[in-house]
Amino acid sequence: MLVTLYEVMRTGGIERRFSLDMAIDCTYWFAVHGSSEVSLRVYAKPARVREALAWREGRYQPEGEADGESGNGPAWRTITRREWQTAGLAGQLLEALGSSVQVGKRSRTWLACELGDGMMRGPIGSRESDKPFPSLEAALGCDSALLRELMRRLDGWRLLYTEYRRLCLDIGLIGDETDDTDRSILQMLILQERIDLASGMVTRQRRDRYSWRQPPARSDTLAWMRMSSGGTRAESRLQELSGNGRRAERKLLRCGRCNSGWEQHHETMCAVCGQLCVYCEACLQMGRVRECSLFVVVRSENDVRTGSGARQASKDRKVLPDCLDTRTLLAKWGLSPAQESASREALAYIRQPAQREGEQFLIWAVTGAGKTEMVYPLVEDVLGIGGRVLLAAPRRDVVLELAPRLEKAFAGRKVVALYGGSEDRWETGEITVATTHQLLRLDSCFDLVILDELDAFPYHNNPMLAFAARRACKPRGKTVLLTATPPREQQLAMRRRRLPHAMVPVRHHRHPLPEPRLLRYRGLKAALGSGSLPGALSAALDGSLKRGAQVFVFVPRIEHVEPLTRLLRQACAGTVDAAAVDGTSSRDEERASRVRRFRAGEIRILVTTTILERGVTIPRSDVYVLDADADLFDEAALVQMAGRAGRSADDPCGRVYFVARERTDGQMRAVRHIRAMNALARRRGLLTESEHGSSSPWSGWFRPDAPGMLDKLARAMAGAIEAVRSRPVAARRRSTEPGAGKEDAHAPMDPPVR
Ligand SMILES: [Zn+2]
Ligand SMILES: [Zn+2]
Repeated sequence: MLVTLYEVMRTGGIERRFSLDMAIDCTYWFAVHGSSEVSLRVYAKPARVREALAWREGRYQPEGEADGESGNGPAWRTITRREWQTAGLAGQLLEALGSSVQVGKRSRTWLACELGDGMMRGPIGSRESDKPFPSLEAALGCDSALLRELMRRLDGWRLLYTEYRRLCLDIGLIGDETDDTDRSILQMLILQERIDLASGMVTRQRRDRYSWRQPPARSDTLAWMRMSSGGTRAESRLQELSGNGRRAERKLLRCGRCNSGWEQHHETMCAVCGQLCVYCEACLQMGRVRECSLFVVVRSENDVRTGSGARQASKDRKVLPDCLDTRTLLAKWGLSPAQESASREALAYIRQPAQREGEQFLIWAVTGAGKTEMVYPLVEDVLGIGGRVLLAAPRRDVVLELAPRLEKAFAGRKVVALYGGSEDRWETGEITVATTHQLLRLDSCFDLVILDELDAFPYHNNPMLAFAARRACKPRGKTVLLTATPPREQQLAMRRRRLPHAMVPVRHHRHPLPEPRLLRYRGLKAALGSGSLPGALSAALDGSLKRGAQVFVFVPRIEHVEPLTRLLRQACAGTVDAAAVDGTSSRDEERASRVRRFRAGEIRILVTTTILERGVTIPRSDVYVLDADADLFDEAALVQMAGRAGRSADDPCGRVYFVARERTDGQMRAVRHIRAMNALARRRGLLTESEHGSSSPWSGWFRPDAPGMLDKLARAMAGAIEAVRSRPVAARRRSTEPGAGKEDAHAPMDPPVR
């Protein structure tokens, strides 16, 4: 997309602008706008939006500008008001400037005939108010209802020009593919300051590279000298840099949609702008962003709590924002005490005025704690003051599940679900539920952003999506993060008191999380090779099936799913049918139907990979993680998989087994994680009475009243003392590391250290 650069010369001074349709701008300045003497100095070579924006800020100089400083250089042409108002001259003038000046088809036509013939004569020698010029909308012949619809749909979005054009076609603002009135309309909306333009690629500012105090080194010196002698405010004159400079310039470019740097960019010859043009590969699947692309942005920077929006909302609803009482807000949703306390903390946080941009609050809730219910009071609070809420989830199926729940909980509010291929496209609601990739198209739109499962793929370790989530939130809006397994950097920030947070260490049914048990075996490969399951594993599986549980069997590799399914069918032939044992993975085309059958209870044992570590809830289930020592199974993955067991109040004590050759750091961390959460729940008195009564830090391992327990303890201690004595000193020092000692198969792991 190319634009025309021009300067508005008035008695007040010179203003730099650019236009997508010069006819609109001429009409605006000469006929609609001020009554003072105005002339426009037009640059007759088209420029890219990125250059136009840089020029406006004084960071770019078009060719020939210096020559034309005093009069009209070869590329510059001045149009005065009088010339413009002379009958018929308007169209001719733009013709004379050549096809390179951007003028829309429809506006060119009305320039040539209608405006030339009289409509423009009104303002000559008279004040503008004497004979008002018909509005630009009327001149362009667009329906004001359609225009309102366009603005409503665009609100909060950051769309590529092509996407904007598709929207215009969708709502019937333009007739067909050949109609370019959308461009004229866009320019009109820009002049009315209802829409912003942004460049496809933005230049990251290198502040002191070309500053006066710090002359640059080597090859940049020439550019610096030119600039210094020119005395401009410019930090760089990009076009003056040689090939070397172009490379340097490319390295400073960032994608205007996903913020990716030059590592993700490619340069090609571009048909649109006719020169070398960089495009972004990182977000290519959402449409190509080029250096010459432009974004249509409608931001809402109004802060509902403090800005004019707050006053409007309180006027509309006859309530002040503070009148929404915390207790009533919380009481409505039937939250457990742990959920309620986290909600209250989060509520207090989102109600504080933001101190800086991008503030975050983290709710660390164990798996099965009922995270969604916890955010209901927050959503209601923001909606109550007229704000907008975004819930972002990592996957499409989560979005599809969440949207109807929210619709039910907030009846009468507009809930919009956005995901790849959704019908609600280019539309936001009071509540918007979106996959994280959709956030790339939103800009300063929401007062509250809730990010679900921020540790999950694709969000985790993805700076692109983190950036998008930040931008989707208004500058003074708040972000609430939900997770069961916060990434390490977040945990660190919490410990250093840099990230406000609330913990929910117990599930909604108030029973502790099942603690994983360790089973030893020779590894999955060996088991598959020998064609039989180890005795301990068979016995445990048998126990699970006999107690009526459904079984998740997690394996780290897709190629093990098939053979293990076959092996399990043989091994469990006495207990369940072959049809009740099945396997699925990300490569399985019938995955959805298998998961459905598993949910319905038709499948008793499901062999799967980490794809099912989240999201699938089975009332009575046990979890087996085979090869739990695989690299892929880190703390977060193991905690999530263990979290599949014991989720319902009917069967809160599901069984979890980590089956592995050896103990790994991941397994130990996962066990410690689960135990720490249970201990915290006990300390806070959040567990049910029965659990609370029998509680002790040794719960589940040491029960003095259990038969033979004291003997067992004495034996274990004697063994441990013997083991420490027999080891050399150096090894003894290392023995504090977890997993150093040997343990019987089936025995639970060490009691918590703390
Ligand atoms: Zn990009
Ligand atoms: Zn281009």
